[in-house]
Amino acid sequence: EAVKNPRGVQIYSAALESRSVARIGLAGDLRRAIESGSLSTHFQPKVALSNDALVGVEALVRWNHPDRGLVSATDIIPVAENSGLIVALTIEVLSQSLTQLATWRAEGRQIDLAVNLSPRCLSDVDFPVEVAALLEEHAIDPAHLTLEITEGGLASDAERPLPGLQSLRDQGIRLSLDDFGTGFSSLSYLRHLPVDELKIDKSFVLNMATDASDLAIVRSIVDLARHLGITVVAEGVETEMTLNLLRDIGCDIAQGFLFSRPLPPERLDSWMAARTE
Ligand code: C2E
Ligand code: CA
Ligand code: CA
Ligand code: CA
Repeated sequence: EAVKNPRGVQIYSAALESRSVARIGLAGDLRRAIESGSLSTHFQPKVALSNDALVGVEALVRWNHPDRGLVSATDIIPVAENSGLIVALTIEVLSQSLTQLATWRAEGRQIDLAVNLSPRCLSDVDFPVEVAALLEEHAIDPAHLTLEITEGGLASDAERPLPGLQSLRDQGIRLSLDDFGTGFSSLSYLRHLPVDELKIDKSFVLNMATDASDLAIVRSIVDLARHLGITVVAEGVETEMTLNLLRDIGCDIAQGFLFSRPLPPERLDSWMAARTE
């Protein structure tokens, strides 16, 4: 049994066969939220350290649940992953955020988009095809899209990247290793995966101004990216002191509450307008 939402995303209710009653309840609500288009996407700015320019935004999913209120991504994603809804959710977030990116670019904003990807999406044969169709629909150059993937769930056999990964890369979409440094095999992935960007996990960035070990780790990741010739992004930048350190070290891009929390598009519009005044 398949149902189609207005954007044509197929959701199979057979996928809801889960053990936990509570989870079935929430998964059912989530399925309806995806179908009815009631998930929303917030965007957080990414800023170049060389010239303070806004270079992109990261899309982060939000769910305004009728009873529970605003549900955060950390609660939504595990439910989606465990109930077979993650591909539909990701396509929904991509659809919303590419629509918004097309609007911003039409207004003359030279910004790129980053979207988070659960590893499960890479074993779905239709996923790369649907991404290509969305890029085409919104006339977005694939080079303006970065998919952020956490190393944790990637194939344990790092010598053979998941086929979906290669297909996305062949389209010209950029790949970023998210939460870099927190996994067990960060370095071995780098030998085999065609990545364009490292995103330093915020657990290293948050206290780097006061913790010598954290600073040493951030510095090493920045050097590593430099030597590999790929972009390096620091997330979790909350203070001016951290920002200055990152600039001294040679990090390319920063993201964090210092600039802005993730915001709905109309509020990010105000943020961007205030910045260029
Ligand atoms: P992430 O990709 O590592 O995203 C960064 C998280 O850190 C976001 O939480 C963001 O709000 C938060 N953050 C940003 N700046 C700061 C800061 O300066 N300080 C601190 N303390 N936190 C900061 P959020 O939105 O709750 O997302 C949590 C995680 O959920 C994300 O971690 C990502 O792994 C996942 N996620 C979010 N949206 C999606 C999605 O559409 N698809 C998938 N598959 N995963 C998503
Ligand atoms: Ca991310
Ligand atoms: Ca992170
Ligand atoms: Ca994360």
